[in-house]
Amino acid sequence: MKKLAICPGSFDPVTNGHLDIIRRGSGIFDEVIVALFNNQSKTPLFSVEERIRLLEEATRDLPNVTVDVSDGLLIDYARQRKAHAILRGLRAISDFEYEMQITSMNKKLDPRIETFFMMTNNQYSFLSSSIVKEVAKYKGDISGLVPPSVEKALMKKYQ
Ligand code: ADP
Repeated sequence: MKKLAICPGSFDPVTNGHLDIIRRGSGIFDEVIVALFNNQSKTPLFSVEERIRLLEEATRDLPNVTVDVSDGLLIDYARQRKAHAILRGLRAISDFEYEMQITSMNKKLDPRIETFFMMTNNQYSFLSSSIVKEVAKYKGDISGLVPPSVEKALMKKYQ
């Protein structure tokens, strides 16, 4: 049976840190669905359509990765897609408490679905979508932190 993982997030926008986790995950699981969840309280900079387009462009070279969108509960989505695992990235100790809370809740909601954590690549441990947006807003150099298409899209937003 094919092993499917869901890699959830808001991806506003996708960074090289996200892509590192997606790429490495796609080498372990048979199939990875990057699922954009739009039910967050924060106001996003990019629309769902823009975020999907950027994700699709950035993962085009990964044949077993697809991009999808959902606005329900992650565990319901994972169940509906018959996923085996939820794939998340961990940057620092500060991520840990939040992730542990969500993982425990998801485990209670459906004990069959495991959550897998991958440690970030050291070079991305400080990297988040918010910090990238902050730097881009003040015209700082974000090359190497996001794919070129995201860099272009950010420059356009803040021009
Ligand atoms: P959320 O709002 O659900 O945290 P994000 O889009 O910010 O969504 O992140 C999605 C996933 O990617 C999370 O598991 C997060 O920990 C992980 N992630 C974000 N940035 C990095 C990074 N630089 N290195 C590794 N994982 C990361």
